[in-house]
Amino acid sequence: MTAKGYAAHNTTDPLTPYSFERNEPGPHEVLIDILYCGICHADVHQSRNEYGHTQYPFVPGHEIVGRVRTTGQEVTKYKQGDLVGVGYFILSCGHCPNCASHEEQFCDNGITPTQNGKLPGGHTTKGGYSNCIVVNENYILRISEKLPPAAVAPLLCAGITTYSALKHNQVSAGHNVAVLGLGGLGHMAVKFAKSFGATVSVLSSSPSKTTSALALGAHRLVDTGDAAQLKTATGSFDFIIDTVSARHDYNQYLNLLKKDGTLILLGVPPEVPPIHPAMLAFRRRKITGSFIGGIEETQEMLDYCAKHNITAEVEVIQPSYINTAFERMLDGDVKYRFVIDMSEL
Ligand code: NAP
Ligand code: ZN
Ligand code: ZN
Repeated sequence: MTAKGYAAHNTTDPLTPYSFERNEPGPHEVLIDILYCGICHADVHQSRNEYGHTQYPFVPGHEIVGRVRTTGQEVTKYKQGDLVGVGYFILSCGHCPNCASHEEQFCDNGITPTQNGKLPGGHTTKGGYSNCIVVNENYILRISEKLPPAAVAPLLCAGITTYSALKHNQVSAGHNVAVLGLGGLGHMAVKFAKSFGATVSVLSSSPSKTTSALALGAHRLVDTGDAAQLKTATGSFDFIIDTVSARHDYNQYLNLLKKDGTLILLGVPPEVPPIHPAMLAFRRRKITGSFIGGIEETQEMLDYCAKHNITAEVEVIQPSYINTAFERMLDGDVKYRFVIDMSEL
């Protein structure tokens, strides 16, 4: 069937309207009409081939909320009309130890990302900047009708990435947590860390975000461009959740951790950064990372959000605004996630 969407065709030109073929759903697959898709910074990195493996034409989009249009004959989990979500991947091997322990994101045989991934037949996956998608029922999430679907879409990547990182590191009451970079991931990290009982600071290069950082649940914003403010935060955090998408000095932020504190890397700038060993050796600090979350944990996060009324702060846009949204995201001018309304496609 023919799908309509938006695609990047090379590293520099704007995304343009693009029609392409999607397979009819197989026995275990579901055809979803996409209502909303969030714009993650990974979409910008990959549209511009910053990691060097983008296949063009590239249709981004992995924060998808939609309704089931039809299901394959063997599908048991979903039916026509169900409100559903799709996140960063649409397939994994299903039998390696990581898949068996519900951490499919670390599949030993490689996940198939929703965008720019390789399907078993060799086709490149096309993501959610489009009107429909076909996904195996085991990689689809159930979305509560209680929450506004546009504000739920970013939970499928920004939400699960921050939720999983905080859960895995057992962030809870009594912890002093800093969120570095207040964008799509960062604002969800503030909401979840606060909800888990931690005391949350925001480390931001944009002091103009102070009022909204406090409204999200942070108790203060530290301006990372102000050396005096940074100095007052030296040695004060148990965890720093680093969501910055561009080159920055990791050593400067390691210095803000307490003894045994942990820097959790979520942002993936294309450059390889220098790390000073002394910053880890003195005070026995640690660096770790985290990558989205498994299907079971993503469902747990969505259910948690429905129960606690947690959604993303979104600016809903039309598809024709995608390129402007990319530029505004690069300028740090988004509070805090762009979400594309696909009804205009
Ligand atoms: P975003 O909305 O653009 O937010 C990034 C924030 O980083 C900005 O709002 C800004 O915050 C800060 N920032 C940007 N450029 C900066 C610079 N030059 N110096 C200092 N700070 C800067 O992006 P996002 O969608 O949250 O994604 C963030 C990163 O996480 C991206 O690299 C993305 O690819 C990655 N990611 C990783 C995973 C994972 O599983 N690990 C999942 C999704 C995304 P302030 O204005 O507050 O400084
Ligand atoms: Zn993402
Ligand atoms: Zn696997």
